[in-house]
Amino acid sequence: MSAMRRYLPVFHDVLGASVLVVGAGVVGTRKIEALLAGGARVTVVARELSPAVEKRAARGDLAAIRGTFQPDQMEEAELVFAATPDRTLNHRVSVEARRRRIPVNVADSPEECTILLPAVVRGDGFTAAISTGGRHPGAAKALREFMEEHRAEISVRLERGRRRKRIAGRPGKVYIVGAGPGDPDLLTVRALGLLRSADAVIYDYLVPREILSLASGKAAKICYARRGRTAGHGAVMKQNAIHETMVRLAREGKSVVRLKSGDPLMFGRGGEEAEHLSREGIPFEIVPGITAAMGCAAAAGIPLTHRERSSSVTFVAGHETDEKGKSAVDWSRLPKDGTLAVYMGVGRVAAIAEELAGAGFSPDTPFAIVENGSRPEQRVVRGILFDLPRIPEEYDVRSPAILFVGRTAALLPCETTGETSDEPAAQSV
Ligand code: SAH
Repeated sequence: MSAMRRYLPVFHDVLGASVLVVGAGVVGTRKIEALLAGGARVTVVARELSPAVEKRAARGDLAAIRGTFQPDQMEEAELVFAATPDRTLNHRVSVEARRRRIPVNVADSPEECTILLPAVVRGDGFTAAISTGGRHPGAAKALREFMEEHRAEISVRLERGRRRKRIAGRPGKVYIVGAGPGDPDLLTVRALGLLRSADAVIYDYLVPREILSLASGKAAKICYARRGRTAGHGAVMKQNAIHETMVRLAREGKSVVRLKSGDPLMFGRGGEEAEHLSREGIPFEIVPGITAAMGCAAAAGIPLTHRERSSSVTFVAGHETDEKGKSAVDWSRLPKDGTLAVYMGVGRVAAIAEELAGAGFSPDTPFAIVENGSRPEQRVVRGILFDLPRIPEEYDVRSPAILFVGRTAALLPCETTGETSDEPAAQSV
């Protein structure tokens, strides 16, 4: 029989139980505190009490016997703990307990125990106990640390398990989750946990395959918007379909991850989706993500603010509105001495350049376009506004791309071109 097999893992209810603890040093005190937290009636026998136990005794939380161990002290006990530095005394306690068939634990001496204390992880709604049969406490501790690091993910799975038990017809939940700019390493721990336990994932066309592959294999994966089909009337139709699908799946009791690129509340209709869920009475939660401006700025070495070059950053939607060709942004009101991060349709770059010029931005203001930021195929094109209109064609810039404008755009990792137009217009790094 393997050493571990002989131990039956159980959770012992100690509420109101009489427990004898022999020894009140560091180890004894830890056990006493755990027992008191569980509502046990604790009797402590020790020649000396730790200050914490002394205080507990003075408050009447436990009964303290200052003196030597006598076997008759365990007459009432349902559990016995020996935690003194004296091995012979611990051995005697163990022998006496076993003779009376009382479960006993002896600190640091598994062979004298009939019960072992596991390493414990407590999270929101669960307690996990880990044991190596008392032989490798370091390994149990390492496992406990691992579980502690994954507490959030465990809680997500718990929630899913609880939901399974709910009466059919009760709604599930929709998580409106930010996936970041594309690099899977830039997902939040929460996003990863939710993806792994999702029943369904409704994702945007900008979310790359590498991130989707992290979702549970069992999850239904639904994509509504296709590349190049995200503006105008078609998008409105799709948005309604997304709303309906989220509600339907949640009503089936499913855990639905609505996965959006970047941050869900940044130019992503996350707000509209949340409003719809709220109107329909569907529970939802919003999980933030790293928005494209932040992810791309970090990846391209563009400080969004800088003590000498920019003390503001503005996130702007460069897309046109439904009224053909007209931008919803009043460019003249944007700070000219800060950083602009323009989320955009690539096809709008020339129009944006014109709008910036019309708003009084100097032609020598630096810009940087970051295409596929944070992804392996990332490309950065830098230059000055004067040259911006011809950049998309010259460099064949493709979606997704973000435009940074301002003195910070010319910083790391290399400087831009000169100001005269007979030098190369821009450089790609
Ligand atoms: N909610 C998203 C933005 C959605 S709007 C966020 O917070 O990032 C789509 C726009 O985001 C694209 O047109 C592009 O300008 C920008 N974008 C998203 N991912 C990008 C990436 N990896 N690299 C460059 N730009 C990106």
